[in-house]
Amino acid sequence: MEEISFRTKIFIGEHALDRLNQITAERIFIVTDPFIEKSGMTAEVTNRLQSKDNEYQIFSDIVPDPPIETVAAGVKVIQEFNPSVLIAIGGGSAIDAAKAMKDFAIRLSPQQKDMKFIAIPTTSGTGTEVTSFSVITDEVNHVKHPLVSDALLPDEAILDTHLVKSVPPTVTADTGMDVLTHAIEAYVSTKANDFSDAFAEKAVQLIFDYLPRCYKDGNDLEAREKVHHASCLAGLAFNMVGLGINHSIAHVCGAQFHIPHGRMNALLLTPVIEYNAGLQGLTHQSFSAAAKKYAQLARVSGLPAANVRVGINSLIQHINQLKRELQMPTSLRACGLKKEQVMSALAAISEAALKDGCTATNPRIPTSKEIETIVEKLY
Ligand code: NAD
Repeated sequence: MEEISFRTKIFIGEHALDRLNQITAERIFIVTDPFIEKSGMTAEVTNRLQSKDNEYQIFSDIVPDPPIETVAAGVKVIQEFNPSVLIAIGGGSAIDAAKAMKDFAIRLSPQQKDMKFIAIPTTSGTGTEVTSFSVITDEVNHVKHPLVSDALLPDEAILDTHLVKSVPPTVTADTGMDVLTHAIEAYVSTKANDFSDAFAEKAVQLIFDYLPRCYKDGNDLEAREKVHHASCLAGLAFNMVGLGINHSIAHVCGAQFHIPHGRMNALLLTPVIEYNAGLQGLTHQSFSAAAKKYAQLARVSGLPAANVRVGINSLIQHINQLKRELQMPTSLRACGLKKEQVMSALAAISEAALKDGCTATNPRIPTSKEIETIVEKLY
């Protein structure tokens, strides 16, 4: 038996941020990053909290891939300020850090009351506004720790398209490919079901149709809205059924080589599809369930898919074409890494990737040698 539930209320459409006008008489802790604060987006939040007996405090020290130390600093402020509402506005880093701050503050002091958690994403990528995940980085050991608990699920998510207009093209590309990876990994997850498939298929279609438009013109609000929704849909899909080794390897390589999360996912996406599909030497009678699902995804995305092999090839070609349109690097070498740096880390990467929580729902059980081969080929 599986239970499917959606705890997070989602506000979408024009003026979605006006949901904040309804907050009265609360102590509000706002977590964000320095760019979001300087850009005036945090003011978009605070302007809606004025003169209603609200008190607020802003924590704007979030950096990409938030480290444990930043979370600890936020926990301290929560303990002093004692908020009743926590608002996280920013990319995945700000929202994940806020999730961890809230969770640790409650665990550390039993008298700490629970807070309503409102997540306002300003990138279209992680889907963290609707997930039970938070990714925190151990900078000393170069490891990303995915925390997983229903306690991390936001109570509300506000998807306001105007907030993503300013995302620069490279971040639009990286985060958009993160969405695509979430949707594709959820689609072939060992736990996939008809509900997660529906979210994942829609997310993939929206990314294929609208991500290139966002990249070319950040002010294309129709395209921005579609990709913002795709990000949330993909988050709902993988929150239900998990991810796979694309993310396991990306978590390790991203922390080790300091490559943005979405860019690392994008590099891995087609090699992982090839590995999971495992087409070499197979006839159509013996195609795996994952191979058939990739072909099905090609079919529902309007790509040629006369049979499983054709479907998988057209999915791979379409993703490669998308990466070219987004002018993304196609190898670790193109990301500026030295060959020795990658080769000497292979064994450690594969060991950590096998232990990562996302590996459990990958459709094919990898050996450490197979993971090493995937990473080696990325160079
Ligand atoms: P991010 O939050 O690290 O932000 C990247 C950069 O974009 C930052 O410099 C930020 O200031 C800037 N930025 C954010 N919004 C902007 C805007 N509207 N305009 C201009 N610049 C803007 O990036 P991200 O990709 O959203 O999040 C990545 C983090 O999320 C990683 O730590 C990753 O591991 C994690 N993650 C979490 C989940 C989850 O389910 N919790 C899923 C995937 C990834």
